[in-house]
Amino acid sequence: MCHETLEDPKLVEPTDVLVEVEISAICGSDLHVYHGREKGIDHGTVMGHEFVGRVAECGKDVKDLKPGARVFSPFTTSCGECFYCRRGLTARCESGQLFGWVEQGAGLHGAQAETVRVPLAASTLVEIPNDVTPEEGLLLGDVLSTGYYCAKQAGVEPGGVYAIVGCGPVGLMAIAGALELGAETLFAIDSIPERLDLAARLGATPISYAQSDPRAIVHGATQGRGADAVLELVGNSSAHRLAVNLVRPGGTVSVVGVHNEERFAFTPAEAYDKNLTYRVGRCPARHMIPQLIPMVQSKKYDLAAVISHRMTLSEGPGAYKLFDEKREGCTKVVLTP
Ligand code: NAD
Ligand code: ZN
Ligand code: ZN
Repeated sequence: MCHETLEDPKLVEPTDVLVEVEISAICGSDLHVYHGREKGIDHGTVMGHEFVGRVAECGKDVKDLKPGARVFSPFTTSCGECFYCRRGLTARCESGQLFGWVEQGAGLHGAQAETVRVPLAASTLVEIPNDVTPEEGLLLGDVLSTGYYCAKQAGVEPGGVYAIVGCGPVGLMAIAGALELGAETLFAIDSIPERLDLAARLGATPISYAQSDPRAIVHGATQGRGADAVLELVGNSSAHRLAVNLVRPGGTVSVVGVHNEERFAFTPAEAYDKNLTYRVGRCPARHMIPQLIPMVQSKKYDLAAVISHRMTLSEGPGAYKLFDEKREGCTKVVLTP
């Protein structure tokens, strides 16, 4: 990563669209690259996979989008037609690409820029619906879809006891998602006071793992059993370990945190002894978005409260540092070109 000037993107395929970026954001996923935990990305790749903007130019095969349309985007492109897209797993589209990932010259630049090229635009981009603000559109494109997906994969339903491990933007959105799915007893674990405050404001019971023992609290609330499901939205081995400690026998651990470790933080024997269901992977955001638009339009949750900082693109390097160090109550940064 760097901040040298790159050439403006151009239309390449007839199904491409160029989007003039109005806002983009920094994601916890960008931090894996920032720290070199995730390897392989080319130097000079434009980062950023969360954005809202205006269609500036359309390839000749793009019928449904017109210049001027206001759009947001899932963090990967998808064709809408392949084996995986037809099954709702748009994150694994046979021709899909992740924004902000260029490896050995191949891939797609990201949206922390003035303009972004969007391949497979008609089946990727979503026009901003009525009663959805640009910031809510941006959240729908990744963190809200991912948080909700994690809750759905966890099998959250009315009456259960659930624990959220990690109250970053994705974990906070998972709280809203779990509540939307009917969760009543919902614990939310982190160590950062501002994030725990946001978790409480959304409706979860906050637990600081720096100050108390989450296992004692969750087991205490369940006659010693543990939670019916644990949602892990961190992506490190201590969070992985904690999730398995908190789940009851027969329960589910649902993971969207991106893991770069070589090994699981629990053994096959522990999984066996707990009759554990383990679900993991990249969120098929394009598939999730249409079903989540009504939740956003309902305004039941103050979703944009996760955005703590609004800065300019030229302040990008400082914004990365602030978000990484989680200083000044920084939970999510939105950048304006
Ligand atoms: P973030 O870094 O802002 O948040 C992570 C939070 O976890 C922080 O608040 C941190 O204090 C907390 N944490 C760290 N260790 C912990 C522990 N042991 N127990 C409890 N909490 C702990 O990141 P984010 O933007 O919220 O993203 C979270 C994760 O989700 C990242 O790994 C990101 O790459 C991943 N992600 C995955 C997908 C997907 O499709 N699967 C999509 C988006 C993001
Ligand atoms: Zn992201
Ligand atoms: Zn596809």
